[in-house]
Amino acid sequence: MVAKRTSRESEGKKMMPATAVQDNAYDVALTNFDTAADALELSPDTREMIKYPERVLTVSVPVRMDNGHIHRFEAYRVQHSSVRGPAKGGIRYHPQVTLDEVKALATWMTWKCAVVNIPFGGAKGGITCDPKHMSNGELERMTRRYTSAILPLIGPEQDIPAPDVYTNSQTMAWIMDTYSMTKGYPIPGVVTGKPISLGGSLGRNEATGRGVFYTVLSACEHLGLPLQGSRVVVQGFGNAGSVAAQLLYESGAIVIGVSDSSACVYNPKGLNIRELIHMKTLTGHVGEFPEGEAIEPGELLALRCEVLVPAALENAIHAGNAANVNARIVAEAANGPVTPAADRILESKDVFVIPDILCNAGGVTVSYFEWVQDEQHLFWEAQDVYSRLERVMKTSFRDVLRIHQDRNVPMRIAANMLGIGRVAEAVQIRGIYP
Ligand code: NAD
Repeated sequence: MVAKRTSRESEGKKMMPATAVQDNAYDVALTNFDTAADALELSPDTREMIKYPERVLTVSVPVRMDNGHIHRFEAYRVQHSSVRGPAKGGIRYHPQVTLDEVKALATWMTWKCAVVNIPFGGAKGGITCDPKHMSNGELERMTRRYTSAILPLIGPEQDIPAPDVYTNSQTMAWIMDTYSMTKGYPIPGVVTGKPISLGGSLGRNEATGRGVFYTVLSACEHLGLPLQGSRVVVQGFGNAGSVAAQLLYESGAIVIGVSDSSACVYNPKGLNIRELIHMKTLTGHVGEFPEGEAIEPGELLALRCEVLVPAALENAIHAGNAANVNARIVAEAANGPVTPAADRILESKDVFVIPDILCNAGGVTVSYFEWVQDEQHLFWEAQDVYSRLERVMKTSFRDVLRIHQDRNVPMRIAANMLGIGRVAEAVQIRGIYP
């Protein structure tokens, strides 16, 4: 089966992305919006209504640390849109979380839910913290206090959190429990990505990586590229990256390079992904894998391959390193891994980009399935989840590809046009209150 997320990977040497200038993710989100809105010829009134977050909440989260002292964490919940349904989006724990990053991620969630045509708007949450240096007890107390701080905003009909970077099904269980204890009865539908024993869905843990896999299959088919024997490189070996790597490996691709925040491993003959996942589960990192040679992060992104999967954080591929990318397909498992300047460079090199709001939408799609199952108290077989997910991902890929071809715009703009166009249509039909 797939790798369990390791909530705290061993520290190892710190590997920041070798970014020349860090783009502000929210600026990137707004720039992409404007480009797609121009192509759609959206009216200024419609833009005013859908471009910006509906609600932005910043909270202080005081936590008693194991040393007895109180530490205050800054945390956020942003609801970008509820035009097409309840707001939906993950919660990230990371030292680099900022309000602008959360606003960007919430904005992308809105367009993403619309691209795969599920009845949600977009949201995101985050706590600026370093979970790798926190105990389980500290993480639990921080999660519960954060939940209580954002409690007025969340709920199965309002805003439904899910896991993101360095949060997992245990985090969701703590949120569900805190929310339910406050309300006085169990409310599993307040979060998705829960453990199965609490009303989670089969297939949710691997949904993002599986969705990435389906879009890579579609891209290969479109480009006439056989997946069998194709070389794959994966940056970021967490939930999204490890599952995508495993499914590609099991389909006959050769995964030649993989990295996490502590190391990069490379083997031109291919890494045994099952064993690598096993080792990562045991040790918390991919370094020292006996079958792999250690390389630098910059070298990993420059490896000649058919499919490059950035599955870590924003800004991984930027103006300073995009020219080195040697891939035919870039499959964005991460949110915002390619900056607009890098987009232009990749386009000039004829690299086929599967944009994040399409490529990694499998996670929110199965979150939607989980929410539906919780609402109905009726749970589906894993195979049902997989086949529904496959249908959604392949249909959405076709929809985006059609716009890309008909309108002669990059895949990213095509995906934004599809998502933004659907939200615009919904807001026009709803009208403005009062
Ligand atoms: P995760 O916490 O499970 O894994 C993140 C991985 O990235 C870890 O292995 C970490 O070591 C690695 N990493 C961090 N910085 C790195 C760096 N500089 N270089 C290489 N590796 C680095 O998180 P995840 O849930 O897999 O999320 C990864 C990306 O996928 C994020 O952009 C997230 O927003 C996106 N995403 C996740 C989901 C989901 O359902 N989990 C859904 C959609 C999108």
